[in-house]
Amino acid sequence: MATIGVLALQGDFREHREVLEGLGAVVHEVRLQKDLERLDGLVIPGGESTTIVRLMRTSHLLEPLRRLAADNFPIWGTCAGMILLAKRLDDTGIPALEAMDIAVRRNAFGRQVDSFEADLFVPVLGDQPFHAVFIRAPIIEAVGPGVEVLARLPDGAPVAARQGQLLATAFHPELTSDHRFHQFFLRRITQPT
Ligand code: GLN
Repeated sequence: MATIGVLALQGDFREHREVLEGLGAVVHEVRLQKDLERLDGLVIPGGESTTIVRLMRTSHLLEPLRRLAADNFPIWGTCAGMILLAKRLDDTGIPALEAMDIAVRRNAFGRQVDSFEADLFVPVLGDQPFHAVFIRAPIIEAVGPGVEVLARLPDGAPVAARQGQLLATAFHPELTSDHRFHQFFLRRITQPT
């Protein structure tokens, strides 16, 4: 089974850990550069992206993570994690891994709708809709040619995408009992196409 790192600097890394372990993965919490050894994939959780990028710098993780992402190492960013993967950000964001060819706007739904839930059609997960929880969520405003959009809101805005082995979701699959996104991430690691 796969060994997955969960970046554990800030945010909801414990929830990811529990889901991944429930699916049989070995999970290592990543706080230091040495924690990146012998991993098959990495999850960057939701939280506060500006805090996480600052902690990445002080923990000397930013450069090693940038190299992994540039080498197409499997990395999945949820919510703040998606912001940290993006190549282009609105002017409130701090560039981090700059690996995925997506333009992302932080806190895209404004204060009135800080959090909401939506049933998404996600063809790579099958016919059953995926119930997605959005919390002060970012949105993907544009995608480059190598990026495949995996899910959209009813108004057409992309909220999940992949580029090679990089995966990004604007919402929090670790907060619901539907684990198909985690299974999808693990499957792409153990059976890359
Ligand atoms: N609003 C947060 C940010 O900009 C992301 C929110 C989340 O991860 N739930 O970093």
